[in-house]
Amino acid sequence: MKLILLGPPGAGKGTQSVELSKSYGIPHISTGDILRESVKAGLPLGLKAKSYMDKGELVPDEVVIGIVAERLKNPDTKKGFILDGFPRTVKQAVGLDEALAKMLSGIDLVIYFQTSTKVAIERLTGRRVCKNCGFNYHAKNMPPRKEGVCDKCGGPLYQRPDDNEATVLNRLKVYEEQTKPLVDYYMKKGTLKKVSGDLQVGELFKVLSQIFAEAKLA
Ligand code: AMP
Repeated sequence: MKLILLGPPGAGKGTQSVELSKSYGIPHISTGDILRESVKAGLPLGLKAKSYMDKGELVPDEVVIGIVAERLKNPDTKKGFILDGFPRTVKQAVGLDEALAKMLSGIDLVIYFQTSTKVAIERLTGRRVCKNCGFNYHAKNMPPRKEGVCDKCGGPLYQRPDDNEATVLNRLKVYEEQTKPLVDYYMKKGTLKKVSGDLQVGELFKVLSQIFAEAKLA
């Protein structure tokens, strides 16, 4: 099952990806996670990406296309994969098509998480992430048992530097301008399925499972 999860920041793509990856045994490929790990490790890629990420701007297309093309060569993608946060521009989508064509492969489905701006802002500004295991919480809607401490591993929780309100608003603007045109791009290819990103995690997971079953992908 080769999937793209498309939608604005705060749509729940990352959360669903983690669940889908566990349930269907396919890797979750998040360009945001790969870039954040590179920043943390002080790699040249991270140094290059950080200034864009801090402002909520997109890292240059050639950089992210290169990352994904390399990652897709890993044998763990044979059975399928979930792309989360990539592609984010038409140029990236074309780059992905080219990379997959070289591997005689293609995308089965693009799931578009249609999400209201109010919900996205609320989720992003309240998000807290575990520094150790990466599990996501929400300050109001899904707080940890002990403030600032991960229920799963005891690690410290933090707020992503780009989850402050000003950067969130810019990320949503960048999404509207540069990423939303991909809805049309994939609609024309006939691979797009629309779901509501406003749904609760469990409800949306059920909707997605049904879509995969109907499409005979699982
Ligand atoms: P995310 O974790 O998906 O919200 O991504 C966090 C940040 O990483 C974005 O605001 C961008 O600066 C950068 N980023 C992640 N994926 C991409 C991409 N496909 N293209 C360009 N920049 C990206």
